[in-house]
Amino acid sequence: MSDILGTMLAVGGYVSPVKLAVMVVLVIPWLYAAPWVAKDARRVRAPEALWNGAVLGAGALGVLLWLVVPVYAVGLLLYVVLSGATLSAYIVYRNGRVKESHRIFTGDWFQRLTSRRKAETIVVEQLVKIYDSHNKIVLSPPPGKADPALIETYNLAQNLLHDMVWRRASRVDIAPAGQQAAVRYEIDGVVIPQASLNLADSEGLINFLKAPAGMDAQERRRPQEGHVSVDITEGGHATDIVLTTAGTTGGQRMQFQLVKEAVRTNLEELGMSDDVLRRVGELNLAGNGFLIVSGPQRSGVTSTLYSLLKQHDAFIRQLVTLEKQPVVDLENITQHTYADDASLAAALAGALRRDPDVVMVDQCPDAKTAQIICDAAGRKSLLLGMHATDAFQALAKWVKVSGDAVAATKNLRGVLCQALLRKLCPTCREAYRPDPQLLAKANLGGQQIDSFFRPPTKPLVDEKGNPVTCPSCQGSGYVARTAAFELLEITDELRQMVAQNASLSQIKAACRKNRMLYLQEEALRKVIEGVTSIQEVIRVTQHAKKS
Ligand SMILES: [Zn+2]
Repeated sequence: MSDILGTMLAVGGYVSPVKLAVMVVLVIPWLYAAPWVAKDARRVRAPEALWNGAVLGAGALGVLLWLVVPVYAVGLLLYVVLSGATLSAYIVYRNGRVKESHRIFTGDWFQRLTSRRKAETIVVEQLVKIYDSHNKIVLSPPPGKADPALIETYNLAQNLLHDMVWRRASRVDIAPAGQQAAVRYEIDGVVIPQASLNLADSEGLINFLKAPAGMDAQERRRPQEGHVSVDITEGGHATDIVLTTAGTTGGQRMQFQLVKEAVRTNLEELGMSDDVLRRVGELNLAGNGFLIVSGPQRSGVTSTLYSLLKQHDAFIRQLVTLEKQPVVDLENITQHTYADDASLAAALAGALRRDPDVVMVDQCPDAKTAQIICDAAGRKSLLLGMHATDAFQALAKWVKVSGDAVAATKNLRGVLCQALLRKLCPTCREAYRPDPQLLAKANLGGQQIDSFFRPPTKPLVDEKGNPVTCPSCQGSGYVARTAAFELLEITDELRQMVAQNASLSQIKAACRKNRMLYLQEEALRKVIEGVTSIQEVIRVTQHAKKS
């Protein structure tokens, strides 16, 4: 060895540290390659001793030549060629002995290698526990082993499911729109567009969720329904989600129906002002006659009908309903369903033959049904549901469908109309001084109002000044809903006016004289109380005008 070093010294005059470093760097791969070849040769059943010897020998010879050849660069080249060629020969040989998928240093192999790298860097996110349609937990893909695309889809599902439950969405819709998929949440009855997804991501997500939901993952066109449940707490309470999917021309669409809002059946919890509550209670329990309960689509009319029905004593009196689709099962109340609008009149007549005391009918589609209601209302209490944006419109619709203005109002005691308003989040609502002009416009100019409330206009921060999301409303500014009601009481004066085909403004003037408060005014009371915001009242009343 001292001879060899002596040679190097003789040639170069000294041992260059750079030359030594290059040598070490190039020899290290060979030191790794030799044992790998031994192991791999055993695995692919190649002659282990031969190949191990060849690789070791060629490398050793290369190093030796490198040291003894007077020109450093030539020695380096000899080493690289010798060890590289032997190693390449081995790889070509062993690749010839194995299946295509087990070959190394091929294009596919490099691709697999890089994707595995990627899989190692993608963290499998675990925000929620997902339970499939058989209530079994959906396992997460193993990190590092699973296809990175699957991990990304899994993470997307985790994030989306967590977000929709956390933000109390009642419905979520993912629908293809060109190269994107539009995502919409419905929170407290308001549709809120979210950031779009890539169409490919949305397709992946929908396909991923089909299997746990109990749907056919291969079926991409036919409408399907399934369900999963999601737990965003630590082993707390799982939220059931009904999934529906269907193919569209642009791709697949998926809807998530989260548990429906509990239907309230206690009249006092609906949001009526004390005055409306007292008067509607008196009208409801008058012994005979009927009340119309109206509101826009999905405005809680069914809740009000159920609550009014439950005001009657179910133990003493016989209570029945006629509903196309009962929303909840009511205790001690006989709920009849009817198939379509045309069969309601016959179903109602049938139910009345059993002589019930109180009857709730969810709608009145025709004159025949109206006539049965008018006749029965002379002896019984009835409640009728209707779609309308205010009580006057509901009254006009009722008179029109019944076709007889005198009979229509003879036993009609009152018309209720309601609108749902989101309640301001008590944690983050912001007080402000309302504009006096606005107050004057809303007929509140004379009242002493110091502050209104609205959703926060500045981002919320914690004690350290870091931005935070409100834990009570998750940033929407509102939590849950309440309803505002207007009650149009039918007096003899009004009956006469309707019979004489009086104009809407004449009827309104008569109601005003009778101290009726309009829906918007009832809603503004809730603004004054700090329950909701003026923006919410405007949103709801403008929405009602449009629909
Ligand atoms: Zn809040």
